[in-house]
Amino acid sequence: MKSMKVVILGAGESGVGAALLAKKNSYEVFVSDFGEIGKEFKKELNANKIAFEEGKHTEEKIFEADLIIKSPGIPDKVPVIQESLKRGINIISEIEFAAKYTEAKIIAITGSNGKTTTTKLIYHLLKTAGIDVGLGGNIGFSFARLLAQHKQHAFYVLELSSFQLDNIQAFRPDIAILLNITPDHMDRYDYKLSNYVQSKFRIMMNQRPGDLFIYNISDVNINQSMTGRSIKMDTVSVRQHEFFENEKIEVEGHAFKMSESSLKGPHNYFNATCAIIAALKVGVVPKLIQKALKTFTNDPHRLEVVANINDIEFINDSKATNVDAVYYALLAMKKPVVWVVGGIDKGNDYQLIEKLVKEKVKAIVCLGLDNKKLFDFFEGTTAEMLETQSVLEAVKMSIEFAEKGDVVLLSPACSSFDLFKNYKDRGDQFRETVQLFVN
Ligand code: ADP
Repeated sequence: MKSMKVVILGAGESGVGAALLAKKNSYEVFVSDFGEIGKEFKKELNANKIAFEEGKHTEEKIFEADLIIKSPGIPDKVPVIQESLKRGINIISEIEFAAKYTEAKIIAITGSNGKTTTTKLIYHLLKTAGIDVGLGGNIGFSFARLLAQHKQHAFYVLELSSFQLDNIQAFRPDIAILLNITPDHMDRYDYKLSNYVQSKFRIMMNQRPGDLFIYNISDVNINQSMTGRSIKMDTVSVRQHEFFENEKIEVEGHAFKMSESSLKGPHNYFNATCAIIAALKVGVVPKLIQKALKTFTNDPHRLEVVANINDIEFINDSKATNVDAVYYALLAMKKPVVWVVGGIDKGNDYQLIEKLVKEKVKAIVCLGLDNKKLFDFFEGTTAEMLETQSVLEAVKMSIEFAEKGDVVLLSPACSSFDLFKNYKDRGDQFRETVQLFVN
C-alpha cells in the first residue's frame, strides 16, 4: 500500500514533534520551513531520516501532500496556506494530529494569562497523588513528541495557545479550562476580538456529555460567548474574586489554605481553583491536594521573589507582557510598590490599571527604549517617574527610591525585544543584577 504523504510546515518543537510521530506511524514525511531551522532540530531530522528544506517552500512538494500539519507560528494568510486550502488539502495542527495516536485522558488549558501556572499546577497535583501523567503542549515538549518518543501516560496535561487551537478538528479534551480572554495577538485575528474569542472556545467545541468544561464566569468575553452556545458537556463556572478572606479558597465544599502555598495573589487563587476542580474530577482527594499545594513551585518570571535587600523585597514578573497581567500583579502586592515597567508597547490601555497605580505605586521606573507613552500617561499621577535603558540603572534607581517595607516589582506590561532577547532574558538579567546588591 502506498504510504500517505504528510507535509509539515514549520520546524520548531511542534513541527519536529509532528514529524517524528508521523515517521513513527509510517507516513512519508517532508518538513518545510521558510526560515532557518535550529541546529538541534536539523540534527534530529537527519538522525531520523526525515526529508526537509529550509529558507523556502517548494510548492510542487507541498501541494502533493495528502495532509498538511501547520505549526502554530504560521498565520493562515501566508500564500502557501491559502493555495493549499484552494487545492482542498486538509490542514491540521500538531495537537490535532497527535491526539489521534493516544487513548489517554487529556486535560487542556487555554486563556490569555495563567496557562503555564495552571497547567503546571494540575500536573503537580496529579503527579503528587501518584497518577501517571505527562505535561506538554505549549510548554516543554510538544504533544506529538511526547507520544513519539516518551513513555505513554494515562493522562496528559496540555497548555494550548489559540494558535494551536486554530487548526484542530476533532481534538476533544476530557477536561478543558478557559481561564480568561483579553485582547492579544490581534494581528492574527484580523483585529477582531470576536475571532480571538472563537479561537479560544475551540477548546470545548468537541466535548460531549461526561466531559468537563471549566470557565471563568467573571470574564465578560467568556460570559457573553457562553450564551446561546450548545452545551453538551458538564460545566463548572468559576468566579474570579479580587479579594480572599484568610487566604483560603473553597472548592466544591472543601477549604484549601493558600497561605501554605507559594502562589500569591487573587489571580493565582483563581488559577488554583480551576486546577483543584480538575484534580477533584480526576479523583484526587482533598487531603492530597492540600499537601501538593504546599510543594508547588511555579516557573520563574511569574511573581518570582528574587531577593530581600534591607527589608525591600524584589519581585520578577517579567512574564507580565500585557496590562492585564500587571493588573493582577499589582492587586497581589500588599506593600508600597516601586514599579519597573516598559519595553515594546502592544497597544496598551493603561486606564485599566490607573486606579491601582495611584493606590499602590510610589515610583515608576521606565525600562525601555521608548518610554514616551508611559510618561504621557502616568506623569503627574502620585507616582515619581524615572527612566533608563539599563537594567543595572533600573535596579540602582529602585534601591535608591525604595524604603524599608517596600517592594520593587518588575512587571513590564510590554514585550522585551527592544532591550532583551526575550522575557526570560529580561527576568534573568533583573534577578542577577538585584543579587549583586545582596550583602
Ligand atoms: P501564560 O502561560 O498564559 O502566559 P503564565 O502562568 O505564564 O500564563 O503567567 C503570565 C503572566 O500572567 C504572569 O505575569 C502572571 O503573574 C500573570 N497571570 C497568571 N495568571 C493570571 C490570571 N488568571 N489572570 C491574569 N494574569 C495572570
